Amino acid sequence: MMRKATQAKGLAKADELYLDRTQRARELQKEGKKVIGYMCCFPPVEMITALDMVPLRIMGDVNEPITKADSYVETIMCSFVRSCFDLAMKGKYDFLDGLVIPHSCDTVLKIYDLWTHYKPLALNHYLDVPHMLQPASAEFFKVALGRLQNALEQVAGAELTDEKLCQAIELHNQSRALLRQLYHLRKIDPPLITGREVIRLVTVAMTIPVREANELIQEVIKEVGNRQGNRSGKKPARVMVYGTDIDNEAFIKLVEDCGANVVVDDICTGTKAFWHDVEITEDLLDGLVDRYLFKTNCARTYRESPGNYLADMENRFGYIRDFARDWQVDGVVLYVIRFCDTVELDVPDVRDYLQGQGYPVLHIEDDYMATNVGQLKTRIQAFLETIS
Ligand code: SF4
Repeated sequence: MMRKATQAKGLAKADELYLDRTQRARELQKEGKKVIGYMCCFPPVEMITALDMVPLRIMGDVNEPITKADSYVETIMCSFVRSCFDLAMKGKYDFLDGLVIPHSCDTVLKIYDLWTHYKPLALNHYLDVPHMLQPASAEFFKVALGRLQNALEQVAGAELTDEKLCQAIELHNQSRALLRQLYHLRKIDPPLITGREVIRLVTVAMTIPVREANELIQEVIKEVGNRQGNRSGKKPARVMVYGTDIDNEAFIKLVEDCGANVVVDDICTGTKAFWHDVEITEDLLDGLVDRYLFKTNCARTYRESPGNYLADMENRFGYIRDFARDWQVDGVVLYVIRFCDTVELDVPDVRDYLQGQGYPVLHIEDDYMATNVGQLKTRIQAFLETIS
């Protein structure tokens, strides 16, 4: 049953929306808006917003056992993607007017085929994303974005003008700037907002129209800014979490309950999704290509080596070190969803690089399932004891 639109504000509103992250989109759909689901960090949400539709990030559910999906896919497959597909097969995404699935990894590609075969929507769009960063990749991705534009225009029944796209880019850049502002409040010790509150807010912001998200983030910034005078909540360690699609609070809450402040992240539902703005370029697609292809730091994209091992590590992971340094973390937890081969292949290099920079690292491989998280408690406690 759908909940009623919340009257709450700030963190209380984020908490309510977090409990049912499709509620606001379904409400708006009843009022006549179209809702387009999308996966991962590659589809430019600005295009969907510009056509007056609601972009809704597809997420799984760690509390829902995967049952239906496993009749169609092997269990040695990323359990986050299996969970998303499981929800789709259970009809939880039937309400969508369209779906955009990028070629993030081969697992996601496979889900595109199955999802759109068994549960086709009015729009079923596959966004091809190059794995290399060459000039030809930019040209290729620009053509792919042109195809996406045509497909979205058809389902919206409207033309995507430069003026509308430019306005949408500005709105989404504003959203990114607000989230960066919020993350800067985590530099303070103790941080003014917990990791658990942040993951709730950031994931919710991906499920509501950007204007509403901006209003909500502004409310939260104001609310947590009032905590300045009451600086409680300091814990023995400041931790950064690196990983894939952590779209729920379970793991972050566990780390914080074990005695750390999670102060920054490099995850698909965190900084990877919003850290960089879209530049307004003469041809707006060029700015989208630059932002979504070149500036999305994902292990699935090959970055050419500048010549030697150390320069390569710096080129690929220097930004993670910058986060760790600027947010003054005591250690980094690499939290990887089991069978995510793309990220697992990066982990030895990320670990070596960060340890070489003086940061203790804990590597955890886990299923996307809330019941599993508790089993990690002892390992996290032991790690925190060594860095506190
Ligand atoms: S977590 Fe890994 S396997 Fe899963 S969607 Fe992301 S890149 Fe693909």
